[in-house]
Amino acid sequence: MADSGIPQNTIEILQKYDFRIQKKYGQNFLIDQSVLNRIVEAAGIEGDDCVLEIGPGLGTMTRCLAERAGRVAAVEIDRNLIPVLKETLAGYDNITLINDDILKVDLNGIVAELNGGRPVKVVANLPYYITTPIIMKLLESHVPLQSITVMVQKEVADRMQAGPGTKDYGALSLAVQYYAKPEIVANVPPNCFIPRPSVGSAVIRLTRYEKPPVQVRDETGLFTLIRAAFNQRRKTLTNALYNAQGLHVPKERTAQALERLGLPSSIRGEALTLEQFAALDFLIYAFYF
Ligand code: SAM
Repeated sequence: MADSGIPQNTIEILQKYDFRIQKKYGQNFLIDQSVLNRIVEAAGIEGDDCVLEIGPGLGTMTRCLAERAGRVAAVEIDRNLIPVLKETLAGYDNITLINDDILKVDLNGIVAELNGGRPVKVVANLPYYITTPIIMKLLESHVPLQSITVMVQKEVADRMQAGPGTKDYGALSLAVQYYAKPEIVANVPPNCFIPRPSVGSAVIRLTRYEKPPVQVRDETGLFTLIRAAFNQRRKTLTNALYNAQGLHVPKERTAQALERLGLPSSIRGEALTLEQFAALDFLIYAFYF
């Protein structure tokens, strides 16, 4: 392929294949070389790394990754992109292309097969319509991974990094921060993509902890409690947990637990740290049942 720059190459590929961009798949192709370099640099790819790329699109980032990593597994849902990728990735013998839905594919199986079960690095310009489910699948399914370096909507990056008492703080912040250390590494404007998204974007790196920063009774239980606290974020924590369907924590139990933690009974979930939620969960459940 002639190297006339990414924007020109992208337009040429789209025209050559008469490719119809699928909005439903969140297709916004990255066309800025410096942003591309920034993502790959932030991911800290080394020669013996195995990288999992989600949604290779036209293969622009896939090629950069394949030049630095030992192996790249790229999972793309859109079957119309497979012939395009076969051409744009021709000449690389370290790329495994998988035509599947990232939310359905057996990630542990891929990592076992391609990297002998050793941790991989995830790098992607994510489809925005399913950012949260993808991040949560990667973190909760305990796929062996070192880090996730991804382009997401700026607003979602802010939510992942937010701390207590801020408007962006919520269940996503706590889930991400339980598993990983989040760092926003770049802000990216809409003109770096074809077509331009209607929102600003950011690159965020999540470095997975070997061990979570807090000890919990049971992960699923803790996150059920956290989601209930934020489902009615304008209500007091006591009311939110009482009103939560399937949970109905008696108000006096939450009040006693808060008292033990030295927190006011009028507190809202948005003011609690991860450590405080973990302690609250212990006090509400472990000590009463
Ligand atoms: N990596 C390319 C780039 O940077 O130009 C494309 C990024 S584009 C924002 C998102 C890509 O994810 C598209 O190629 C889209 O078809 C793909 N995609 C969308 N949903 C997917 C899913 N559930 N599983 C795998 N890939 C998906």
